[in-house]
Amino acid sequence: MKVFEKDNNVFKLLSEAISEGIIVVNEKQVIVATNGSADQIFGYEQDELVGKDLNVLIPQKHHHNHGEHFESFIGHTEKRHMGKGRDLFGVRKDGTVFPVEAGLNPFAIYGNSYVMALVIDITLRKQQEQQIQDLNAQLEQKIEERTEELHHTIQELKEEVTLRMDAEAKIKESLRKERDLNELKTKFLSLVSHEFKTPLSGILTSATLAGKYTKTEQQEKREKHLDMIKNKVKYLDNILNDFLSIERLETGKVTYKFSRFPLSKVINEVVYNANMLLKDGQRISYPKDIDDHVVEFDEKILELVLSNLINNAIKYSGENTTIDLQVQYQDKILTVKIIDQGIGIPEKEQNFIFKRYFRAENALLDQGTGIGLNIVKSHLENLGGNITFTSEENQGSTFVITIPTITNTN
Ligand code: ADP
Repeated sequence: MKVFEKDNNVFKLLSEAISEGIIVVNEKQVIVATNGSADQIFGYEQDELVGKDLNVLIPQKHHHNHGEHFESFIGHTEKRHMGKGRDLFGVRKDGTVFPVEAGLNPFAIYGNSYVMALVIDITLRKQQEQQIQDLNAQLEQKIEERTEELHHTIQELKEEVTLRMDAEAKIKESLRKERDLNELKTKFLSLVSHEFKTPLSGILTSATLAGKYTKTEQQEKREKHLDMIKNKVKYLDNILNDFLSIERLETGKVTYKFSRFPLSKVINEVVYNANMLLKDGQRISYPKDIDDHVVEFDEKILELVLSNLINNAIKYSGENTTIDLQVQYQDKILTVKIIDQGIGIPEKEQNFIFKRYFRAENALLDQGTGIGLNIVKSHLENLGGNITFTSEENQGSTFVITIPTITNTN
């Protein structure tokens, strides 16, 4: 016991050099020694704590707990870090409670057991920890807000990108159309110079010759030349119509006009015009018993489709051949077949026949632009119909068109 007596300097000497507070208690939890730091931490005068119960340094609400811990601890010899996993608090003389960290060292001297507690005031550290926690919480909050903002921005950007992509697609599409139109204009100019030249000079020749037959009895010869003129004019008219059709299809200006009309009206007109183009010995066979068929469709388009197909059949067939036009009506679908005995389409080129400007190799000797079938297909598809063909070189071709929405008065 002497070792902790007031005038024994050994403890003082050793403990005053240490910045931690040192509190030594005996088995009864009575404080037997403190160093200056401990007195200062807890706000006591020098030696004021000696003889006091340890509980004066422990907040009231922890007394009970502490007692139990102490009982189980005293008598052991290992050192221990106190309050592992939970916060420890001390109470100053003025009653203020503050956080502490304590290490416990049990020891025995002169047959008595003691515990030496090394105590640090960790108020500052706790405050800093709290500040760090607060800062972390603020930071997390900020990060959450920023992430949210970022999500928004990304969403907005995505929408913007979609809008831009749409706009770009539209621009590309109109550029493509413009390019196609320019190409069309160029083609048109070169076609005008090539395709128009021959018929125009034919017209000029026929007109000149017709002018030479001045006598009344030469009417037959005059008529032959006038027919030739009509034929060539019709041909040029067809080319111009095809070009106008492409232009309308390209610019999206094409409008369809539905009406009810007798099928025979269109067929008679198409056959009448086609007759002017017939070669020697060629004839068109077509049904004469279709007066009852009333069609609901775009009349002009049906005329354009049929005249293109019949004109091709005439153009790509030799003299003394028959062009057969057949009509069938079933399940509200009108089917028209145009069968010729002409040059046919080479098998390897059949896949390209509906491509604009495409002309098969065996057709190059005849005049043509390669746009008729392309337009026919576009119009028919726009109107829910379609076109197919079968063909064998030097045997002939059969083009088949189908058209929906047709009524029959029968
Ligand atoms: P064009 O007759 O002015 O060349 P089309 O678009 O009408 O243009 O036809 C494209 C091509 O299809 C023709 O150049 C020709 O090679 C082929 N073709 C079309 N119809 C027939 C047919 N009845 N017989 C043989 N070939 C055909």
